[in-house]
Amino acid sequence: MTTIPVVIVGAGPTGITAATLLAQYGVECLVLDRWATVYAQPRAVHLDDEIFCIIARLGIADQFAAISRPARGLRLLDSTNRVLAEFHRDPAHTVHGFAQANMFDQPDLEALLRANLKRYPCAEMRGDAEVTDIADDGQGRILVTFGDRSDGATHVVEANYVLGCDGANSVVRSCIGSSMRDLKFDQRWLVVDIATTADLEQWDGVHQVCDPNRAATYMRIGDTRYRWEFQLLPGETTDDFGTLAALRPLIAAWVGDIPPADLKLVRVTEYTFRAKLADRWRRGNIFLLGDAAHLTPPFIGQGMGAGLRDAMNLAWKLAGVLKGGLPPVVLDTYEQERKPHTRFMIGMALGMGWAMTAGGDVGNHIRRLVVPGLRLVPGLRDKLVESRTPALHRSALVMKAHAPWQLAGTLCPNPVVADGKRLDTALGIRFSMVTTAPPLAFQRALLEERGAFIHVAERGSELARWLRRGHATAAIIRPDRTVMCAGRNLSALCEVVPRFVPSEYAQPNPIGPDPRRT
Ligand SMILES: Cc1cc2nc3c(=O)[nH]c(=O)nc-3n(C[C@H](O)[C@H](O)[C@H](O)COP(=O)(O)OP(=O)(O)OC[C@H]3O[C@@H](n4cnc5c(N)ncnc54)[C@H](O)[C@@H]3O)c2cc1C
Repeated sequence: MTTIPVVIVGAGPTGITAATLLAQYGVECLVLDRWATVYAQPRAVHLDDEIFCIIARLGIADQFAAISRPARGLRLLDSTNRVLAEFHRDPAHTVHGFAQANMFDQPDLEALLRANLKRYPCAEMRGDAEVTDIADDGQGRILVTFGDRSDGATHVVEANYVLGCDGANSVVRSCIGSSMRDLKFDQRWLVVDIATTADLEQWDGVHQVCDPNRAATYMRIGDTRYRWEFQLLPGETTDDFGTLAALRPLIAAWVGDIPPADLKLVRVTEYTFRAKLADRWRRGNIFLLGDAAHLTPPFIGQGMGAGLRDAMNLAWKLAGVLKGGLPPVVLDTYEQERKPHTRFMIGMALGMGWAMTAGGDVGNHIRRLVVPGLRLVPGLRDKLVESRTPALHRSALVMKAHAPWQLAGTLCPNPVVADGKRLDTALGIRFSMVTTAPPLAFQRALLEERGAFIHVAERGSELARWLRRGHATAAIIRPDRTVMCAGRNLSALCEVVPRFVPSEYAQPNPIGPDPRRT
């Protein structure tokens, strides 16, 4: 039996993203999914600019732009559809170069992700493969058992690492003895997708109706596609809303007098929105990512994004351990960094759920008083207005001082730097030193020996201003664009840059067409 370095269970957005990122470092991986094709039903419809950066890193920014639609932000409405607060987002002004709110249809994105993975020969995707068991001998050998649904045969593959990206009912999670901690949120919602070429003439952002009697969400997700979500009342089921006529009272405020013949019901279904966090995300060399590790109610459109953040956080560390000289202990930082961030984002979603659904008539009254002031709450303002998510917690790879302005743990901005290219493209998939002071020869030699890229930020540039705001003249940027450490002593910073030289390091930047296929 040959050993595969990484077996990924689940070819949803998290699994395919992890496979693609690993493949960019030349790490061989096998993705197993119980289905041969993508899950065709609509689910996620929103992702932010930080997640768009990850998609760009996969090499499909233009293709994703072609199947998505920037949104203007978020409006909170009362039960009479009166605007309580508006969090405007200007698609043209963003620190990462992409619109802060992007609407899309999940199956389109998943098809794109899978097609893109085919560009990487070292990643193999096998459908019709239902994983039934994961056995870890504790000596670095993990046996993954799966059944081939096309012929019923059972197969076993051996792996060094297993990534459980197998969604909410994860088998991998059970196999490592992890369980979901319930964060006490459980609501039944009706999810409605409608296609029409008629113009609904609505404000082009997400509408959240705050109404404890029937909270609702509306958004345009494509040129001809619209999504509504309605809280179900006790006793109601999907069957009560299976036709356009039955749905009409719910959607009337948005579709007005557009005739039913001009509306096509794509899907109406019920989901129970839950908030859960796995108590452990790792056992040995087996990791949990995406919905296997956390569930978020979709009120701020961050569940899938969290899975992509997991993949971005773990893939380069794993590549570094397998091929680039990083010590295995860096893998401990995955859960240390990602779990608190995910918990915070779930808290944000629960806060939004509360704003939309809690408190009956008293709640409505409080909402009228409180919601217009939400823009002033710093954490909320960052997320709702600026789309920025919190800094990662301290770890061996996030070296923080105790200062409110510090950059460590935050994402490096992605401005245009030269030749019209953005910083991400210049930095590639390695560690980088972004500095306003050109390194001296010995500093340059040290950084180059450790595989780090040097970017000297021009005086007065956006990056120079960003460093100054962080009271720094230089910052170590990790391959996932998180600031590892920042400060004013370039020599000291050079000393702490880890040696990271995965074998693909010398290849042309894989952001864009795969060099091996062109
Ligand atoms: C109504 C709704 C709206 C949402 N809106 C948003 C939004 O706007 N923004 C957002 O970011 N998120 C949103 N989400 C959440 C998002 O859809 C999920 O978080 C995302 O799909 C999780 O991706 P994943 O790859 O981790 O898991 P999944 O997409 O569930 O993929 C898991 C994969 O594993 C496979 N699998 C499972 N078990 C096995 C096994 N034993 N063997 C082999 N394969 C297996 C499955 O077939 C599947 O392909 C929404 C969800 C819902 C339901």
